[in-house]
Amino acid sequence: MINLLIMGKPGAGKGTQSTRLLEYYHLTHISTGDIYREEMAKNSAIGKLAKQYIGKGELVPDDVTNDIVKNVLSTKKFPNGFMLDGYPRTAAQAVALDEMLKELGISLTAVINVEVDDKVLLERMAGRRVCPSCNATYHISFHPPVKDNVCDVCGTVLIQREDDLEESVLNRLRIYNEKTKPLLDYYKKKGLLFVVNGERPKDEVFNTILQRIGD
Ligand code: ADP
Ligand code: ADP
Ligand code: ZN
Repeated sequence: MINLLIMGKPGAGKGTQSTRLLEYYHLTHISTGDIYREEMAKNSAIGKLAKQYIGKGELVPDDVTNDIVKNVLSTKKFPNGFMLDGYPRTAAQAVALDEMLKELGISLTAVINVEVDDKVLLERMAGRRVCPSCNATYHISFHPPVKDNVCDVCGTVLIQREDDLEESVLNRLRIYNEKTKPLLDYYKKKGLLFVVNGERPKDEVFNTILQRIGD
């Protein structure tokens, strides 16, 4: 069982690396951002609530997010382990996660922090395009799809995320520094933190992570 958390500022490459790691280790993906986007697309009650926060680049309240993760962890199967992507993002979420894992008798293998400078992030988010159907992520210059603006995996037309506009991105970076960054220390003290330079090309980042996690 390999149970990973992947952390990093918005646009650091969490989603990109998660996708590769999932395939390699056959992990179950739990991305709170993907869950919220799916709920918004369905226009469900949770989706409507989340939309009020996400569009502005704010965090969805902790109790809502914790309930979602708790529900997923207790119902979804993860025979080879899981990859939590975008959760926890606050101290209260980290504490809630510890409790959930304790109850389930599960421990974390490692916490990967993908580190990238703010200037690079702004460039990445401005060019990010996503597939609304399968969640694959592209970049107009760094990782363009084979056919312009069409998903390589499933053929759906790509979109730009509403929260990738600059104002929202700056707000997310501010919130990251205030609420999420302190968690790095939390996991460092537990001896779980592994920092990788996310400014390197994505294959290099991936290989560095593999070397650390092992087989
Ligand atoms: P990014 O990949 O840009 O870091 P995500 O796709 O993980 O962003 O999340 C998109 C948005 O969904 C966040 O900006 C936030 O509004 C909401 N969200 C995702 N995960 C959480 C969480 N753990 N707690 C609160 N809000 C969250
Ligand atoms: P996150 O999930 O952390 O918000 P993403 O994986 O969605 O980040 O990546 C953000 C953007 O940066 C995407 O457009 C992606 O294609 C691009 N990207 C990801 N990793 C790299 C990398 N190592 N080098 C250059 N661009 C990257
Ligand atoms: Zn797709």
